[in-house]
Amino acid sequence: MSPIKSRFGLGFLALVSVVLVVVVLFQRHRIDLEGRGPLSPMVPETVSGTGTQVPESDSVTVRKAAIPRGATLATVLRGFDVSGPEIHRLVEDTRHVYNLDRVRPGNRLVLELGLDGSLRSVRYDIDEEEYLVGRQMRDRFVATRHRYDLQLEEERVFGEIRTSLTEALISQGENYALVSKVLDILGWDLDFTQLQPQDSVTLLVEKKYRAGRFVKYGDVLAVRFDQMDRSLFGFLFTDPATGKKDYFDEKGNSLRKAFLRVPFKFDPRITSGFSYSRYHPILKRRRPHLGVDYGAPTGTEVISVAAGTVSFTGRKGGYGKMVRIRHGKYSTSYAHLSRIQVRRGQRVEQGDVIGRVGSTGLSTGPHLDYRIQDRSGRFLNPAKLKSPPEKPVAPQHLDAFRGVRSDLMQRLSSFPANAEYFTRKAKSG
Ligand SMILES: [Zn+2]
Repeated sequence: MSPIKSRFGLGFLALVSVVLVVVVLFQRHRIDLEGRGPLSPMVPETVSGTGTQVPESDSVTVRKAAIPRGATLATVLRGFDVSGPEIHRLVEDTRHVYNLDRVRPGNRLVLELGLDGSLRSVRYDIDEEEYLVGRQMRDRFVATRHRYDLQLEEERVFGEIRTSLTEALISQGENYALVSKVLDILGWDLDFTQLQPQDSVTLLVEKKYRAGRFVKYGDVLAVRFDQMDRSLFGFLFTDPATGKKDYFDEKGNSLRKAFLRVPFKFDPRITSGFSYSRYHPILKRRRPHLGVDYGAPTGTEVISVAAGTVSFTGRKGGYGKMVRIRHGKYSTSYAHLSRIQVRRGQRVEQGDVIGRVGSTGLSTGPHLDYRIQDRSGRFLNPAKLKSPPEKPVAPQHLDAFRGVRSDLMQRLSSFPANAEYFTRKAKSG
């Protein structure tokens, strides 16, 4: 070997070393700039051996899908060439944990398929919080149910009413589920169709996150609704004796208001109950009767079953002279009246006389047709409407309630703004 060649070889090695050092230093510098911390040793990770470190792509392929609208699990799996008998076995073997015949559109599915195309495992998101795993073991699918690890955050949400409660909350980045929760809490006291611009709502609500992504709401802990002349409060309080959660105002009164059982000052006779198929005495055919008829002499006083605002008075086809009253989330109507004694827009209290029994409209004799509708206009069976309890906080729990209330009241007003708070919580882990 000539000395020249050897010197050249040494020089080459030195050059390579310098380049390597520069590259390594550059890498380290760049990585430090990106804030990823110290450089890890540049040794390739061994992929030999057994255990979880082996990439599963060697033996299985992973496929992800969301259930399309109108699809079943079978149609989705067949799209991945899973055989009919195997799909059937999967559904049967996992049925005791969850029924995969009833998958919901949009829910996610993760499959592991063997090289031979066989189904090794399925993971199905039952909902935002739970998922099912079916894993093939010796010609059987072993089913297990798991919970995602969700982080619970408490946030303050403020919305000013411009057109509606929905608009106020959606414009703050919230969704309909929260609107619905607020309607349920305050719906007994507040007619949400009669809001004024500049009314405002403030909420203290739990939100559940998975890996930093919002998943769903937890409890609304407190709500405050401000109007020109009044502020309504709702505080979530758990009865220490029963463990039952409910909403109460600042004085400890339940926010649920009961309807009177009947729209009379006495117990009347029911002449026709609530039915989806009743033989109509005048029309002589079967049709739904989505109210209750009470027989009573003409001129008998009819009273409002709850406080509310009169939303309709006048003649309405077969109903004859009718009054409709809105009570927040419900409305009630009183038909075939002989006389109407309230005006549209009038505020009435529970028990106020609103009119007199008659036989106007499609009617065979004096009676009252009484109906209850929910927000969506659906008719409810008055006999089955669970009259919510309106018991206040029990005296022995009032001190506990006052403690909870003061704490929530303070958090309602002094919590930092939504985004700021969440950022801070996320950083603190
Ligand atoms: Zn009727």
